[in-house]
Amino acid sequence: MNSPLYQVEMKCPVCGTTFSTSRVRSKNCIVESRDTDFCVYYKECNPIYYEVAVCRHCGYADMYSRFDEIDPEDAGIVRAEIEGKWNGRDFGGERTMEDALDSYKLALFCAQLRKGTPAGALASICMRLAWLYRMKGDAKEEKRFLAHALEQYMELYDRGRTPEKMDEITLVYLIGELSRRLGKGKDAVVWFNRVVSHEMSKQKPLIVRMAREQWSLVRNTGQEV
Ligand SMILES: [Zn+2]
Repeated sequence: MNSPLYQVEMKCPVCGTTFSTSRVRSKNCIVESRDTDFCVYYKECNPIYYEVAVCRHCGYADMYSRFDEIDPEDAGIVRAEIEGKWNGRDFGGERTMEDALDSYKLALFCAQLRKGTPAGALASICMRLAWLYRMKGDAKEEKRFLAHALEQYMELYDRGRTPEKMDEITLVYLIGELSRRLGKGKDAVVWFNRVVSHEMSKQKPLIVRMAREQWSLVRNTGQEV
């Protein structure tokens, strides 16, 4: 039987050694459904489990897609902080939910140590931690990480920035939706209204429709009062 996983050799930019990490074959990434905050559920293997690469030699961890993007100063900071504390755990094989959660927590720890981590990178790690806790059925931890993500997304918006691969209207919608999920109905309505009146609203009818639907949800549940 063909495994949905394949191995990728990585070179760690912090300690310089190589290790292997698992990735899910794209043909095995079959989308089943999506939540209104873009959490995706897959039919077979969950690729979210494998998005963080962890060097088994030193413990440096980050999202696979930007694992190499660490400047020498930050690499030095991470190395000094984790040296001597790392237990050599190997995340290279098949991962359980707990392995996946631990991999994201390591990535968040390394990201917070670094000076040059963009708010969007921190937010995407926190979103994935929240989604994993949702899949696990732990609403308390899910909300804790959604709140961290919301903080980062608002900081980006205030600075006139957007996360990588996200346009501004989608960011505005997501801030509204995270506010709604965190029980801040009044704030959510303000952000959803911003989506509807946004200059990109004509180009993004799906996002506008989602904002209208979530806006109605807040109104109907009386959450804004
Ligand atoms: Zn390393």
